[in-house]
Amino acid sequence: MTAHAFAAESRRDNVPDAFWMPFTPMRAFRQAPLLFERAEGMHYITPDGRRVLDGMAGLWCVNAGHGQAKITEAIRAAAGRLDFVSSFKMSHPDAQAYAARLCDFAPEGIDHVFFVNSGSEAVDTALKIARAYHQARGQAGRTKLIGRAKGYHGMGWGGLSVSGIGRHKAAFGPLLPDVAHLPLPYDRATMAFSRGRPEGGLAAAEALETLLQIHDPATVAAVIVEPVTGSGGVYPPPKGYLECLRAICDRHGILLIFDEVITGFGRLGSPFAAQAYGVRPDLMSCAKGMTNGAVPMGGVLVAGHVYEAFMAGPPEAIELLHGYTYSAHPLACAAGLATLDVFAEQDILGSLAKVLPLWEERAHRLKGAAHVVDIRTAGLLCAIDLAPRPGADGARGGEANALCLDAGVLVRNAGDTLVLSPPLVIARAEIEEIFAAIERALGRIG
Ligand code: PMP
Repeated sequence: MTAHAFAAESRRDNVPDAFWMPFTPMRAFRQAPLLFERAEGMHYITPDGRRVLDGMAGLWCVNAGHGQAKITEAIRAAAGRLDFVSSFKMSHPDAQAYAARLCDFAPEGIDHVFFVNSGSEAVDTALKIARAYHQARGQAGRTKLIGRAKGYHGMGWGGLSVSGIGRHKAAFGPLLPDVAHLPLPYDRATMAFSRGRPEGGLAAAEALETLLQIHDPATVAAVIVEPVTGSGGVYPPPKGYLECLRAICDRHGILLIFDEVITGFGRLGSPFAAQAYGVRPDLMSCAKGMTNGAVPMGGVLVAGHVYEAFMAGPPEAIELLHGYTYSAHPLACAAGLATLDVFAEQDILGSLAKVLPLWEERAHRLKGAAHVVDIRTAGLLCAIDLAPRPGADGARGGEANALCLDAGVLVRNAGDTLVLSPPLVIARAEIEEIFAAIERALGRIG
C-alpha cells in the first residue's frame, strides 16, 4: 500500500462523516445515510439490490425518469468532444443551439437565456438582472425586492433574502435590506381539500397593492414568486391570483419574476407554469428538470423587452458584469438539448396528461385517512398536510415518510406535510402504489 493510499484509508476509518451532507440532521445521519447506488426509470436501487419507487423525481428534477439513454449518451459524447470552454466572450455550438431551443420551449416573448449552474444561481441572477434593468433605464432607485411567505428560492444570499421560510435564515445574520414579503395566498378554512386551483385569487393578490402603499412602488424592482409554492408545501395559485399580480406589476413598472425551478420542464403538464396558467413573467428562473437532473445547470429566461432595455441603455449597461465559470458548460448544454429531444420524442407531456386525472383523484381519495387535514395537487405535485402530534411538530410527517420508505416508496416530508413529485413518466399502477403506501403508513402512526 502506498503512503498516500494508507493515509486515505485511515482517514476513512476515523472520519466516517467526511461528507458534510446538505440539509441533513448531522447527528442522526452521521454514519448511516440512505445509500442509493443505481437508478433506472421510476426506481432507485440500494447497494443490497432493493428497489425503491422514486416519489420525488430525485429532488423534483428527474422529470423524464432515471437513466434516459439519450441523455446519458449525449453527456458521454460531449465529454469526449469538448471538456470545457469559457462563456465569457466565447461559446460552443451546443450552447448556441440549446439557448435557441429553450426559448422555443418557453412561453412566447421569452427570447434570451442566461445560463448558470443551479436554481440558487438562477434566482440570484434574476434578481441582479432586475435591478440592473431598472438602472439601465435610468431608474436606479428601484431596488426593493418582494418575495412571499413560504417561498423557497435557493440558498444564495439573494434567494435567501426573498425566501419566505424563516428558519432557513435564522443562523445566517443580516440578509439583503429592502426586501418585503407578500402573504401566502392560502386559507385553510376556505381552501382545504380544493381540487385544482381554489377560488379567491383576486382578493389574495390585492395584498400586493397593500404592500405597495407601504413601500413606494417607484422604489420596487421586482416581485418574485413560485407560481406553485414548492418546497414550502405545494400551494397552487388561487384562480386569478397570478393574473392579478401581473396586472399590478404592470401598473407600477415592476418586473415579475416566476421562479420555475420546480414548475418548469413539464411538472404542471405544460413546459412551464407560465404556459399552464397563461401568465407571462418578465424573467423566469429554472434549473432541475433542464438536464433531467443529470448535470447541474440553471438558467434565467429573459423576456425580449428586458434584454432590449440593456441594449438601448447607456454604454456601461450593455455588459452585465455577472456570470460563472461553468455557465453553459458543454456537458450541461448537451444534456439539456437531449432532454428537450426526450420530451418531444417520447411525448412526455402527452403521456402525463393521460395520468393527471388519476393522480388528482387518487390523491384526494386520502381525504378522511388518519391525521389528514388538507390535500393539495397541481400537475404532478401533491402535498398532504397532517395534523401535528401535540408537542411533537413534524413527528408524524417523519414517521409516515419512514414507513413509506420501508414499504419501498420514497416520499418527502416538510415537517408534517408529505410531498410528492415523481417523474412525469409514472404509470397508473405506480400512482396507486405511492398513495396505497401513504394510506397504510397513516393508518399505522399514532
Ligand atoms: N428555487 C426553487 C423554487 C427551488 O425549488 C429550488 C430548489 N429546491 C431552488 C430555487 C434552488 O435550486 P438549487 O438547489 O439548484 O440551488
